[in-house]
Amino acid sequence: MKNNILYLVVPCYNEEEVLKETTKRLKEKFNKLIKNKIISNKSKVMYVNDGSKDKTWDLIQEIHEKETLFTGITLSRNRGHQNALLAGLMTAKKYADVVISMDADLQDDINAIDEMLEKYQQGCDIVYGVRSARKTDTFFKRFTAEGFYKFMKFLGVDCVYNHADYRLTSKRVLDEFENYKEVNLFLRGMFPLVGFKSDVVYYERAERFAGESKYPLKKMLNFAWDGITSFSVKPLRFICTLGFLILLVSIGIMIYSLVRHLQGNTVSGWTFLSISIWFIGGLQMISVGIIGEYIGKMYNETKHRPRFIVSENLEEKNG
Ligand code: UDP
Ligand code: MG
Repeated sequence: MKNNILYLVVPCYNEEEVLKETTKRLKEKFNKLIKNKIISNKSKVMYVNDGSKDKTWDLIQEIHEKETLFTGITLSRNRGHQNALLAGLMTAKKYADVVISMDADLQDDINAIDEMLEKYQQGCDIVYGVRSARKTDTFFKRFTAEGFYKFMKFLGVDCVYNHADYRLTSKRVLDEFENYKEVNLFLRGMFPLVGFKSDVVYYERAERFAGESKYPLKKMLNFAWDGITSFSVKPLRFICTLGFLILLVSIGIMIYSLVRHLQGNTVSGWTFLSISIWFIGGLQMISVGIIGEYIGKMYNETKHRPRFIVSENLEEKNG
């Protein structure tokens, strides 16, 4: 059996309405897991207060005093879901062997934890929670979210389809993850970069049982845009392609203009102007695209992402 101190990291922003119920349900779950010796009795739930404006932090402190199973950290101000989550993961890994991240509203089915732990015991270092159906989401949310995952794939980003931030990670993954120093966080796209053995677990997503979504449309769009621009330089490359297309069109225009010119039914100067506009347009766009190519390279360099991660070294094993 692997070491099995589990920490459940739960970011909370203005979640006073859900915390009590969440605590109750998680307590039941943890007690069961500890009783069945699936996880160690040192396991904990770690709430991360993301600079809430309501009583969330007071509540977390209260719960912590009453129950040793629950602990918490608080951020100095609101930094957004992804930053709060990262703060939680990096803190939890100091005490845990394995960490699961989950939202405070329990929309993610907590019964999937068992299956995640099973896969962890079988040797997986990352287990992604994947929504099997989106019955409870509105048509709009489902359509935009699924479209987004498909678009990310088209842009060449290695994203797990329909996976949000419900995921199990082992301590060694988190240790490696610490070396990803970028500040524009899109965690669900970054974990696949780390590698190691991974698997998925399917679950059905429920509705939020109290309170309101802390992800209004504007935040969601920002997040999606961050995901695209933090992971793909294809939009830059697209400029170059467009430039070449326009240059091709300009050849067509050239032929067309010359034919019209020879037929004699054009105003004087028209041929020269129409050819110039298209040709220079294409040339300019290609130039911008080439500059974009270099910017794309610089952008990847500035991220300082690790170039490789060794997962096993036989030399050390034989010691
Ligand atoms: N959250 C956070 N900081 C924020 C916004 C949200 O920590 O600035 C947390 C929130 O408390 C919840 C999770 O992120 O635990 C997901 O938010 P929510 O359930 O509102 O998003 P939705 O499920 O509607 O996409
Ligand atoms: Mg939610």
